[in-house]
Amino acid sequence: MTAPALFPPGSTVGLMGSGQLGRMFAIAARRMGYRVHVFSPEKGTPAGQLADLEIAAPYEDQAAVTGFASGLDVLTFEFENIPARSVQWAAERCVVRPAGGVLHICQHRLREKQFLADAGFPVAPFLPVSNAAELKSAFDFLGTPAVLKTAAFGYDGKGQRRIDSPAEVVEIQGPSVLERHVPFSMEISVLVARGIDGEMAAFPICENIHRNHILDLTIAPARISETVAESARALACAIADKLALVGLLAVEMFLLPDSTLLVNELAPRPHNSGHFTFDACVTSQFEQQLRAICGLALGSTEQLRPAAMANLLGDLWQDGEPDWAAAARFPDVKIHLYGKTGPRPGRKMGHLTALASDVESAAAMVREARASLTGNRRG
Ligand code: AMP
Repeated sequence: MTAPALFPPGSTVGLMGSGQLGRMFAIAARRMGYRVHVFSPEKGTPAGQLADLEIAAPYEDQAAVTGFASGLDVLTFEFENIPARSVQWAAERCVVRPAGGVLHICQHRLREKQFLADAGFPVAPFLPVSNAAELKSAFDFLGTPAVLKTAAFGYDGKGQRRIDSPAEVVEIQGPSVLERHVPFSMEISVLVARGIDGEMAAFPICENIHRNHILDLTIAPARISETVAESARALACAIADKLALVGLLAVEMFLLPDSTLLVNELAPRPHNSGHFTFDACVTSQFEQQLRAICGLALGSTEQLRPAAMANLLGDLWQDGEPDWAAAARFPDVKIHLYGKTGPRPGRKMGHLTALASDVESAAAMVREARASLTGNRRG
């Protein structure tokens, strides 16, 4: 279909997926005067609570997807694991950004790694494995320790396992990737937006600290040299360009002790590590996603104050409702809750962002504010 590339405020933007990323996207879009429609299998979702229209249907329901897309100017995604067919159905009715081909690459670890390696981007050595014999020869080639990851539907460390010796009995669950374990000194991520004319803008680099494979804390800007930051930004921009992306791309990287950067994972959407931008930058990652997919000029990515973001997982609810009034006593801490009911261990329920004059103070403050939620029992 031929459609105008530019969708000004007043247009209708659609979103597939309806969790917290969609919720914050909806806040940014509605603030700028857009109508927001969301589509996911559930009702009363974090994004749906704030949308003009919430459709609950399976992604595989062709009639529902077609009907949804018919009411939109432009469609984007909260997560990359949308079936390719659904994206195709939607693309027959409205503009889809980023394009289905980008999702196709990023929803499958092996395709993603292969894309990066073929294009000459640095990744940890890896091999595809789908049975015990392939796993054995992959060990022979890569050595241990290594990390075995399922090719599809992996996030937050799900479907992945570290293996320290080839003698370990490992069952392979479907097509997988065996990757050399990387002794990184820091995990960082770069969020870069790319517009319809190829204009790009990267946010300050995020320093990410994980707990149980789930992001626990992001510190921004990352405590790295300007030379490393420049290399990381250049790498992320080159990947976004190679993907011909229109939208936002999060590039997770490992920084090695010798300053080498390796790309770990791509996400063609806003990312948990970019939540600090909501409160700390001129333009949030969500507004930037909106600007990019609507064909508007990108906003400034300037960071106004050093920041730290701490995730609030369902574990904090173990002994009852957290003490929100305690966290509100920190004047430089912003509380974000996603409107989810049913806190479960490991489930992302919200986050806190602290703003300070330096990142160390911001990190200490956000940890203290989080600990105050449970009377310092946890944090
Ligand atoms: P992923 O699901 O690939 O993002 O991995 C989740 C986390 O596991 C990463 O953020 C790292 O902390 C760790 N991890 C994944 N792959 C490797 C690797 N090859 N070497 C060392 N740590 C890894």
